[in-house]
Amino acid sequence: MSGTPYRPTIGLTTQTLHSIDGIPPALPESWVMNQRYFLATTMVGGVPWMIPLFDDDLPTLRQIYERLDGLLIPGGVDVDPRQYGEAILPECGNLDPSRDRVELQLVKWAIEDGKPVFGLCRGLQIINVVLGGTLWQDLAVQRPELAKHDYFPTAGYARQHLAHPVTLEPTSKLATLLDGPQTVMVNSMHHQGIKSLGEGLIATATAPDGLVEAIELPGEPFIIGVQWHPEVFEMTDPHTRHLFGGFIAAATRFAERARSASTLVGSAQEH
Ligand code: MN
Repeated sequence: MSGTPYRPTIGLTTQTLHSIDGIPPALPESWVMNQRYFLATTMVGGVPWMIPLFDDDLPTLRQIYERLDGLLIPGGVDVDPRQYGEAILPECGNLDPSRDRVELQLVKWAIEDGKPVFGLCRGLQIINVVLGGTLWQDLAVQRPELAKHDYFPTAGYARQHLAHPVTLEPTSKLATLLDGPQTVMVNSMHHQGIKSLGEGLIATATAPDGLVEAIELPGEPFIIGVQWHPEVFEMTDPHTRHLFGGFIAAATRFAERARSASTLVGSAQEH
């Protein structure tokens, strides 16, 4: 074991797959997630771990959480607006209440503990909601003056389609990790977006129309969310690779702190 660098365990949440015309069978439902998130995590040295949506078994969810060094919250369906105190509009998309409850709980625990969280698309929205922020349920209807952001594959757009630039906040962790120009092109597969920022969060990337495209908590805990899908570019773009690497480095630091703390507790108990 000595000489092998420690690889942090990164929990990735999943999404409920409901039956489509009875295939797969309606019961039991399945928990699924796009392979790209697992591969991107692995490429930078993380050990990805799938998290079941045990929203009605918090003791077990907590046991899973405590074995993780970081959380990656992937893209997915819309967050239930009732989670941020609003009624559901007709334009709000599909929901996954189990996923909402699990992700909101996990991210809350992680923020309390300073455990790194990397939120991608929906993941950014979850971080924002945990900290009391709100979302636009449908940008096209509620903010029609903004540019198009919903370049969905279901409408024929490639996931790597570079839809619009974002301007980075130069002093942010995000800009430091992307280590490149102040303005970068990103893909855009979202119809929702940040309405009001959660407590303590700062906007670290902004689209030309003013929409917040990335957020972070200042300070050491790596709590970063981006509205785009960087996992699409992690193989080809060294800046994006470096961003994922920064997340894994933060998870490694967290694991080292946790291990040295438990060693201290162990030696204290010996006396
Ligand atoms: Mn966008």
